Amino acid sequence: MEHSDTHKPEWTPQDAGSEFASFVMKGVDGPTAISNRGRKKRRQLSVDDYVNGVLEQNRTILARAITLIESNADVHREMGQEVLQHLLPHAGNSTRLGITGVPGAGKSTFVENLGVRLCEQGHKVAVLAVDPSSSLSGGSILGDKTRMEKLSRDKRAFIRPSPTSGALGGVAEKSRSTIVLCEAAGYDTILVETVGVGQNETTVRQMVDCFLLLTIAGAGDDLQGIKKGVVELADIFAVNKADGNNKLRAQRARSEMKTVLHYLTPYTPEWTIPAMTCSAFTGEGVDKVWETVEKFYEHLRKTGYLESRRAQQNVNWMHEMMIQNLKHRFLHHEKVASKLSDLEHKVANGKLPAYSAAKTLLAEFLDEK
Ligand code: GDP
Repeated sequence: MEHSDTHKPEWTPQDAGSEFASFVMKGVDGPTAISNRGRKKRRQLSVDDYVNGVLEQNRTILARAITLIESNADVHREMGQEVLQHLLPHAGNSTRLGITGVPGAGKSTFVENLGVRLCEQGHKVAVLAVDPSSSLSGGSILGDKTRMEKLSRDKRAFIRPSPTSGALGGVAEKSRSTIVLCEAAGYDTILVETVGVGQNETTVRQMVDCFLLLTIAGAGDDLQGIKKGVVELADIFAVNKADGNNKLRAQRARSEMKTVLHYLTPYTPEWTIPAMTCSAFTGEGVDKVWETVEKFYEHLRKTGYLESRRAQQNVNWMHEMMIQNLKHRFLHHEKVASKLSDLEHKVANGKLPAYSAAKTLLAEFLDEK
């Protein structure tokens, strides 16, 4: 067999046939060829292409649909919303579990361990990260590390890093849409990982059914900087890294936590928040945490809270979309946009109160018609 685009390097044996693997692709001929390489335009997809692709569980199209929805460009927004509309009836049939904890608590390791287990049991697992810090710092707490290598190789898993919101915000709105797309693509378990450092827990809490708080022992006596508010959002509490020398300390931290939890009003009525230990590293206790998640779902179903929680999630989503749309239209309004930087400058220099500047811009916006 002759390879028209290949040649034998000098170091190949004289008598090497086509079975010899060391053929080298012929180099490119000139700068034009180089500049066109790797820039092959991807075929534009129609709304139907996106919808059908997602429903057929095509991972590439799912990823592209998420990118479409994450885009801030007007044309993409419209199309993204249309795709979403078509897919909404196919969504909702999943376990939506949020996982939070301070950086270093072991969230990714836990998600990977749990994810691999669930895939082995035949589940399809989507892992999403919500990290609004990526839009503030330009870097991302969740995104920088090489994460979940084993899980990312599993065909039944789909891992999506946090959307970067750009100037317009809306990470939460985008993440909610991503959940819908993943569900429509047949993922029955959605794991939403978020950094436990700010108010984003509240946002994630509002898009999941069950919220797991991961902590570690010995990082401080004051609940290691986890704000009390975060503890109040949790349905399940687990002290991670309960292995080796640390096992005993983790068990002690769990008992202490149990006492604290006793005085808290649980986020989910009639549910006693369990405090457990686990090791994402060895896997010990991870099954138990998952069993507790299942028990929690039973509770949600039995009490009707699952239905009301999902209804509330949709209303929250609507609010989020309303605000994001309004913000988008406001900031892109011709007169607003033309005056914005001048007014910002005046406010920054103390020449104009912020309130007056905002009022002026709103007046411009509302006089549109
Ligand atoms: P995240 O920032 O919360 O996502 O934490 P990571 O999953 O990146 O874990 C932080 C560090 O703790 C890594 O070096 C992990 O290998 C380690 N780690 C995570 N879980 C465990 C565990 O259960 N036991 C031990 N000993 N180390 C762990």
